[in-house]
Amino acid sequence: MDTIDRPLNVTHEVTNQPPPLAGYDLFAHDAALSEGLRREGGAWDEPGLHELGVLAGSDEAIACGFDANRFPPELRTHDRFGNRIDEIAFHPAWHWLMEVAVSHGLHGAPWRSPREGAHVARAARFFVWSQVESGHGCPISMTYASIPVIRRRADLAALLEPVLTSTTYEPVLRPLREKRGALCGMAMTEKQGGSDLRTNTTRAEPFDGDTYALTGHKWFCSAPMSDAFLVLAQAADGLTCFFLHRMLPDGTRNAIRIQRLKDKLGNRSNASSEIELDNALALRVGDEGRGIATIIEMVNHTRLDCIGGSAALMRAALAQAAHHARHRRAFGARLAEQPLMRNVLADLALESEAATALLMRLAGAIDRAALDPHEAALARVGIALGKYWVCKRAIAHIAEAMECLGGNGYVEESILPRLYREAPVNAIWEGSGNVNALDLLRALTKNPETRSAYFAELDRATGANPALDAAVASLRDAFAADVTTREADARRTVEQMALALQAALLVRHAPPAVSDAFVAARLGAERASGFGTLPQGADPRAILDRAWPR
Ligand SMILES: Cc1cc2nc3c(=O)[nH]c(=O)nc-3n(C[C@H](O)[C@H](O)[C@H](O)COP(=O)(O)OP(=O)(O)OC[C@H]3O[C@@H](n4cnc5c(N)ncnc54)[C@H](O)[C@@H]3O)c2cc1C
Repeated sequence: MDTIDRPLNVTHEVTNQPPPLAGYDLFAHDAALSEGLRREGGAWDEPGLHELGVLAGSDEAIACGFDANRFPPELRTHDRFGNRIDEIAFHPAWHWLMEVAVSHGLHGAPWRSPREGAHVARAARFFVWSQVESGHGCPISMTYASIPVIRRRADLAALLEPVLTSTTYEPVLRPLREKRGALCGMAMTEKQGGSDLRTNTTRAEPFDGDTYALTGHKWFCSAPMSDAFLVLAQAADGLTCFFLHRMLPDGTRNAIRIQRLKDKLGNRSNASSEIELDNALALRVGDEGRGIATIIEMVNHTRLDCIGGSAALMRAALAQAAHHARHRRAFGARLAEQPLMRNVLADLALESEAATALLMRLAGAIDRAALDPHEAALARVGIALGKYWVCKRAIAHIAEAMECLGGNGYVEESILPRLYREAPVNAIWEGSGNVNALDLLRALTKNPETRSAYFAELDRATGANPALDAAVASLRDAFAADVTTREADARRTVEQMALALQAALLVRHAPPAVSDAFVAARLGAERASGFGTLPQGADPRAILDRAWPR
């Protein structure tokens, strides 16, 4: 048979596949985010967010997100001469992502340049940039959260704050005085217990003044290439918080060894390790025996980022699903024009907008907490319930978004498998679901001002939506019947509180098409449990046009 000269696509034309979703400004397309930013005092950062939004939508950023996960970090325990080095080798894509995050102040801008809306703007930036890649958000988030703890020691803060909040990314281990930029992690969890930190066995022996020698292990220590860590260990008077630098002032390495890296479900670009401390020198932060009370100051900030990270995953998944459905045709029409698919997409959009609105409100509460007791109490209760609910919803949300792409969604190149694998970690760390729910009940019981702040926030929406008013009334009844003392009901209570707070925010701030549908679908008599179950009367087209105007 003669060979025939034919073009490369010999057997068929490629049709009915969407164009890649790239080359756009993620911030410009996100009405819920930009409105929340303005509402909460961060409008001044719109130019910065547009710049980051364009970068996040660029081919280069998208490629780095994939590469950082395709080529995960490797542990190098020794150099070629057999010397112990305990270093992590990262792909250049990881360093590029970190460089962008640090140079845009995601790890420290509100501390370095405080102003009204600084935490709001930073949360919005974290949300936009996390849509590119989530794993590197871990060291960024921990560094951001470490500052309130480090401020407990004026001498430490004077030395460290400028380096930890600097916009220079310097991934080289050096004495702190020589560093232009540094990162800080935390090491609390041990083999025998992560939620119940009182079981920590790492010992702290006095060495010299406030310096102690720590000996023991940590079962989870993420970002072990960080310059320093906040560590919990048992001193004579009980569990205590310490600041541990990987390098001693004389330029020798501290006695902290990385034993191995975890082989994780997701979050694969980020290194999470098991470490051993062998008389590692560390400085006490806070009083002996006050370790949990000291380190807990990190938690409001890391939990805010769990909410932001999960909201970002949902937004990224929604964008992919809506983009696909606007281009893909089946049975003679675009998917996005088909009533049932529109219902699914609109429902996903509602969930995403509710998460974004809550994130912005809580970041605003953190901003104002120091001067306003209502905001401080709302941050306490809102962050706990948001961490529980938004992180849980992200897992189901992404699975449904994946299905909108059919088989393409199940394939790595679509990004959805990476988003899906990433989602559960935000629910697990920094207080797993149950622990978080119980913590919230404790706060509501022990600190009545959190209860008042929560209901005062709901009251701001009173009278605008009868179904929301009814849900709030039934919550008040449950509180009157002392629901906060019933451990077994904690998840039910937190879920209802989270939904009511999200609904109240949407009723006050979102267009009626969004808020009416959210209240009807999540709190009304016709609510159902799966996505794509918006009841009649909802306007999926309007919801979707707002969420995805491309
Ligand atoms: C990717 C990743 C990175 C991490 N990075 C770090 C890090 O950098 N530093 C660090 O210190 N830790 C880190 N962790 C550890 C994480 O914080 C812990 O895994 C988490 O706090 C849970 O602790 P645990 O694993 O010991 O589980 P457990 O404490 O054994 O909990 C198991 C389950 O029991 C539930 N539970 C616990 N108590 C109760 C109760 N009273 N009633 C009902 N249910 C309960 C929990 O909610 C959880 O679902 C990381 C974890 C992961 C997955």
